[in-house]
Amino acid sequence: MENKDTKNEKNSKQKSGSGLSIGMIIAAVVLVAAIIVVILVIINKNKKGDDSAESHKLIHIEARDATIYEKGSISCYFCTDCGKYYADEDAKKELSADEVESYVFDKDANGLYEYGDDKKLYYVKNGVCDPSYSGFAKLISDWYYVSEGKVDTSITSVIRGEVYGEDAWWNVVNGKVEFVDTVARNENGWWYIKNGKVEFTNTIGENEEGKWYIVDGKVDYSFSGKYEKEGIVYTVKEGRVTHSKKKQNYDSGLSDYYLDKGNSSEFFINSTNEKDIIDGFSYYYKKTGIRPYLMILEVLPSESIDDYLEKLHKETFGDEKGVLMVYVVFEHYTWVYGGEDGTNPIDEDAYDFVYNAIKKSGDETDLSKMFGNALRTAAINMVGEDDTTSESSESSEAVSE
Ligand SMILES: [Zn+2]
Repeated sequence: MENKDTKNEKNSKQKSGSGLSIGMIIAAVVLVAAIIVVILVIINKNKKGDDSAESHKLIHIEARDATIYEKGSISCYFCTDCGKYYADEDAKKELSADEVESYVFDKDANGLYEYGDDKKLYYVKNGVCDPSYSGFAKLISDWYYVSEGKVDTSITSVIRGEVYGEDAWWNVVNGKVEFVDTVARNENGWWYIKNGKVEFTNTIGENEEGKWYIVDGKVDYSFSGKYEKEGIVYTVKEGRVTHSKKKQNYDSGLSDYYLDKGNSSEFFINSTNEKDIIDGFSYYYKKTGIRPYLMILEVLPSESIDDYLEKLHKETFGDEKGVLMVYVVFEHYTWVYGGEDGTNPIDEDAYDFVYNAIKKSGDETDLSKMFGNALRTAAINMVGEDDTTSESSESSEAVSE
């Protein structure tokens, strides 16, 4: 029994001995596994580190100065995948755009900017000149024509594009839109320009070289003959106006020297009291060669007084030299207008004489006498009394007798 027990014990001892070694094997396996995992993690980690530079697509950027057309840069690396800058080829140290990039214009500049000693204007988009842009652009209150990214001041033409949101053909003079009335040319011909843009109408246009016959906005060089517009008859030879004349009896209301549109009032001018104004005005006309004309209105015209004066002056005088006076009853004021460049205007002195004479003749109760005397005074102040002295000396003799 004992033996058997001992045997059993031995057996059990043996058994337990063999159990222990299995535990050790398992522990060893776990340990090895753990070591392998650690090694794998380390390898993996290393692998990731190696991958880092490779997963970016880095290109080297050479240092360069900013130009008008390109931003500048310091020497660095750029990833074409993620668009980031790096200081090193391992993409370890990232750089901000501000650290890398430089600009001739402001980084956020958009629109027209001056640059260089010649102060040339460039069309800038996000800090660099955009040579793909041709069209109009505004700087402060002026509009410029941009050709391939810059304003070319040698360009004078009529060019289509958008100005103030309006698609039209614009009058470009030395690269800049001129908002004037004129006749200007481009490769397709000469065009009628009204306030800076082509107006496709039939009319007479004018520039410093003369007046032109316009058909549908364009000078028609094929036309020779007469053309009538707003009471003026134009003689045209191959598109150019050679002569213009106010049409006879265009407005039957116009007398030679005045028209009183004020509602009948004892102060105003009619056949009963017109002698003074006609005497004074014809005296002035004879002395100066400038035809005077007075328009009397009750109230200001609905259009601007400047437009009214300009229009009435043209209608009344055509190409003839004339001084226009417009007296507005309710304003107690007289506007004096001597024409402007192109219409054969009177000179500044002539204008001043009329203006000052009217200003000094304050008596508005008799307009015929007031204006007649004013124009007589203006003529005397302007050219002297000369051959009329006999007249006045006669009258003064008559008075003294
Ligand atoms: Zn990248």
